[in-house]
Amino acid sequence: LNYQTARFLTSAPTLAACPPDSGSEVAFAGRSNAGKSSAINALTRQKALARTSKTPGRTQLINFFALGEESERRLVDLPGYGFAKVPEQVKLEWQRHLSDYLQRRASLRGLVLVMDVRHPLTEFDQTLLGWADDKAMPVHILLTKADKLKRGAAASALQQVRSRLREWEDLVSIQLFSSLKGQGIEEVHARLDAWLLD
Ligand code: GDP
Repeated sequence: LNYQTARFLTSAPTLAACPPDSGSEVAFAGRSNAGKSSAINALTRQKALARTSKTPGRTQLINFFALGEESERRLVDLPGYGFAKVPEQVKLEWQRHLSDYLQRRASLRGLVLVMDVRHPLTEFDQTLLGWADDKAMPVHILLTKADKLKRGAAASALQQVRSRLREWEDLVSIQLFSSLKGQGIEEVHARLDAWLLD
């Protein structure tokens, strides 16, 4: 698939407002500031498709991007989670929309979970993995900002996350990634192709 053709389709605050649940889509999730927007921009080779550095506490939307002319293959940018300043009520609301989306969206083929290689597997990352597991939804983990670590340290971070997720190895794949250096883009494209072209 040509990821450079990605274009903004629509934003939805809730599952009910999402575009028709047909075709196939891959959703990106991650803690705020993990580097999710930068990863989407790197993968589509667009500078500002997904907005970086959003304001915490704002109403969070599910953003849909279509690949090519049709809208039958999509990338989905899920709201970032984990901003400490957000009121508990708002957090619970996001969690509900996120879990609704993950549990009920029939066209969802896989989840790309973006983690900062220096802070992997936060509590909510693990909650998400649990939800994915409940649905037998495959997850591809990007350990991003790999450029922030020396090669050996990055490799050992990868091994550590792999070993912590061994019980989920049937559903979960993991790789290093850097939006800044363009590291790991082909590997993600191959995973997305496998999901979206299936
Ligand atoms: P999001 O909140 O998960 O969408 O995170 P952003 O994509 O907005 O990135 C958060 C911050 O991390 C920004 O300052 C980015 O420039 C920086 N960042 C994102 N990806 C990388 C990367 O691969 N390498 C480095 N060095 N910085 C990155």
